[in-house]
Amino acid sequence: MNRLVVFDLDDTLYLERDYVLSGFRAVDNFVRRELGVRGFLKDVWSRFDAGQRELIFDRALEARGLAPRLVRKLLAVYRSHAPHIRLCPDARRFLGRPPEGVAIGIITDGRLPAQRAKIRALGIGRLVGDIVITGRWGARYAKPHPRAFLWMERRFGVSGSACAYVGDNPSKDFEAPRALGWSVFRLRRPGGLYAGAASRGVPEIRSCDELRERLSLKTRRSATTSRPSSPHEELSLPEGAGGGGGASKGRAARTASTHS
Ligand SMILES: [Mg+2]
Repeated sequence: MNRLVVFDLDDTLYLERDYVLSGFRAVDNFVRRELGVRGFLKDVWSRFDAGQRELIFDRALEARGLAPRLVRKLLAVYRSHAPHIRLCPDARRFLGRPPEGVAIGIITDGRLPAQRAKIRALGIGRLVGDIVITGRWGARYAKPHPRAFLWMERRFGVSGSACAYVGDNPSKDFEAPRALGWSVFRLRRPGGLYAGAASRGVPEIRSCDELRERLSLKTRRSATTSRPSSPHEELSLPEGAGGGGGASKGRAARTASTHS
């Protein structure tokens, strides 16, 4: 194993809106059963679909004249539900048959129980070498903090240009790995929550199939040249991909989503 490819989870390996819909359904079942409220799913989903990302449950309760304190219970139902989500087909292909000599890891932010439930539902624990949920160390170690990336380097015994990170969120996914000399790829999936965000100079791919092509291209290049013309080309990093990105703390605790 001489190279390492680490993936983000939400909107990189599966579509987060599927998780949100799954959670909303669990909450809808709860309010129908416990409170006799109907139509909750339609309400919260239309808010989410319109771009609302925070206080969705608060506003939906308010619209029905229900006690604001119920939001804590609804969030607990949302965050602890067993999600119905699936790997994107290209992600399944890549993880099921990674390129030769490439170890696979995952670094994801978010609350431990929710991220663990997603990992269980996706069945990816057996497909990847290791997974870091930064929430296990506390919120201050969420991306763009470098701790998880340094942890992966030690775990797999590789560093810098032998490593690549694939994520979807330009505001936090790429700053730390780029500072460590990793290659980075922005996977921009249609339907992704950050699909419309500005790219900040990170090379883009549309699928994990394209990632495989990029890695393969580099392997062929390495076989015909004695050394890379730039240390950033180890994993086929295009020109202009260096430099820092902005930091973000993710969304507030009451957002409908559980990752950041
Ligand atoms: Mg993501």
